Amino acid sequence: MKDLKLAGLKAERSAIEVNGVTIGGKEIILIGGPCAVESSIQMRQSAETVKKAGGKILRGGVFKPRTSPYSFQGLGREGLNYLVQAAREQDLLCVTEAIDVASLELVAEQVDIIQIGARNMQNFELLKMAGKINKPIILKRGLSATIEEWLLAAEYILSAGNPRVILCERGIRTYEPSTRNTLDLSAVGVAKELSHLPVIVDPSHAAGRRDLISSLSKAALASGADGLLIEMHPNPAEAVSDGPQSLHPEQFVQLAGELGVVAEAVNRVFACSRKNEEETLESLRNEIDDIDHTIIERLAARMQIVSKVADKKRLDRVKDNTREKEVMQRLTSLGDELKLPSELVKKIYPIIFEVAVQSQIKRKLVSEKEMDRSLASR
Ligand code: PEP
Ligand code: MN
Repeated sequence: MKDLKLAGLKAERSAIEVNGVTIGGKEIILIGGPCAVESSIQMRQSAETVKKAGGKILRGGVFKPRTSPYSFQGLGREGLNYLVQAAREQDLLCVTEAIDVASLELVAEQVDIIQIGARNMQNFELLKMAGKINKPIILKRGLSATIEEWLLAAEYILSAGNPRVILCERGIRTYEPSTRNTLDLSAVGVAKELSHLPVIVDPSHAAGRRDLISSLSKAALASGADGLLIEMHPNPAEAVSDGPQSLHPEQFVQLAGELGVVAEAVNRVFACSRKNEEETLESLRNEIDDIDHTIIERLAARMQIVSKVADKKRLDRVKDNTREKEVMQRLTSLGDELKLPSELVKKIYPIIFEVAVQSQIKRKLVSEKEMDRSLASR
């Protein structure tokens, strides 16, 4: 490949340094966060999880290149503030995608790393502009791009003057419909054979489903990836985009805890920060206390909505068995996925339903009585 004048293999592999983090060195780098930035609280929770897992970089899209023009297009400048602020609070770096020259100029001022997405891998004007910027670029492989086309896209950035390019394999389109794309792990080895640039892997956009992320992440490290980019959302069921492939925070932390042994097996390191913190009885109890506090707060919020629902129902239809069954099914399968003992959900929820129904009945009786009284006084 004679045109890979700058991207082509050199005597030494490139390690890319950015604000204290090195990508392409001995250490595996974990990047995590939601597909799209949605709110300040969502980004704060995501940043806390990334930190807890030992991740170094927070992600979140504020300009979203969506397949459909009717899908959420991103929060733009406002979202950028949420991302940057949340990363800063946890002492993480941050990355977001630029989709055109205008968004590139805007994000380049604020984030540590810029992503060029699969759909823009051959947007040559954008690549040339990215070459003029003094920030590392994560260049995703195009949906149907060959490895050669991907490396030539990197060459555009390098030849325009930016030496810091990180390649990202994110799955390619094949005839196989059971996953969103097909993760091409041989591309990691091939790209590293042809080029000195670091290569990271995004299993989320490849799989399109969260049940495969853990095994694909481990396989990616075994295949020589220098890092992982994984979508995670504080509440995937409510995510505005890519919820089905986003890990729950607990799954993200658990996966990170399992990456160390895989890294070690291929002579790399992944330092999960939890290992460095000493866990004492007191620190663990404090963690439990925090979680209990959140549970009670969320239950109170639930009860408030329950009383609003009462106003929309007839008294003889307050109890809705079909809905209870449907909620129960959804929650037990979520519980299974998160490895909760199944009796826990099965015991707790009937009580929650019962208390909710009783409070709705009470509320309806009170409001009917008030109505009778006001009619009688007319
Ligand atoms: C993303 O990372 O949010 C994204 C849109 O990825 P890709 O460009 O790989 O589809
Ligand atoms: Mn996404």
